[in-house]
Amino acid sequence: MKVKYLGTGAAEGIPALFCHCAICEQARVLGGKNIRTRAQALIDNELLVDFGPDTFFHTLKYNIRLADIEYCLITHNHDDHLYAQDLRARKRSRAILRPGTPPLNVYGSLGVKNALCPDKEGFITKNKSVRFVLFNAYERKQIGKFTVTALPAVHGGDNPFVYVIQKGGSTFLYAHDTDYFMDETWKFIRDLNFHFNAVSLDCTEGKKHIDYMGHMNFEKMVYFCKKMQSIHAINDKTLIIANHISHNGLVNYAEACGIAQNYGIIVSFDGMEVEV
Ligand SMILES: [Zn+2]
Ligand SMILES: [Zn+2]
Ligand SMILES: [Zn+2]
Repeated sequence: MKVKYLGTGAAEGIPALFCHCAICEQARVLGGKNIRTRAQALIDNELLVDFGPDTFFHTLKYNIRLADIEYCLITHNHDDHLYAQDLRARKRSRAILRPGTPPLNVYGSLGVKNALCPDKEGFITKNKSVRFVLFNAYERKQIGKFTVTALPAVHGGDNPFVYVIQKGGSTFLYAHDTDYFMDETWKFIRDLNFHFNAVSLDCTEGKKHIDYMGHMNFEKMVYFCKKMQSIHAINDKTLIIANHISHNGLVNYAEACGIAQNYGIIVSFDGMEVEV
């Protein structure tokens, strides 16, 4: 699988709107990999993960024809991951979509369903161009060429998920906006014998000390990886990626890479591509 990171920032992006902090001021001067739009990924040009407020910008920056994409996983209903207004712009009326274009299938939890309010048939647009499909925790679905399993995240919002995405013998864990998993989730991963070729983990808080649940910093990421090693979910060939990075984490791109290299972790940047 080719995973393209369209956006790698947390809710505010970097530089954050209205922010005078050192990380944001540096990002304005240094640019490049210090600029982070809101988190979104595209896998094999077919499976979109999340639909946040920077989706429009990502289509311009990476030349993505969104009308051709049929599958989108939504992790949770926080604004940086689900900007419903733009989804509802996918209309068939007034010749926006070519006749015969398949619907966009949007997958998510009950929390995402509550945010999108689909009709009885599951459509969120009157013209059947966007269909909502409910995922339950620990459920596995075949989505196009991908096998996707939803795992409950430890995070705020309504019923948040992270996803295990499998294709052609490769297994990828996309796990942002989560803290250390619940015991039942670790047990599920162990019981299903998941072995991840790559894991993309929440590093919202960077080098900052954290004392709340819902996100991770480098220290917690390392702890999370040790647990995965202990249940043989990862090994030393697994790619470990720090992503969903906030200005609150007190690191610019170079500083984050400096910390990450001690642990063999890759720091994401907007536009990064990894082969899983
Ligand atoms: Zn987020
Ligand atoms: Zn800032
Ligand atoms: Zn969130």
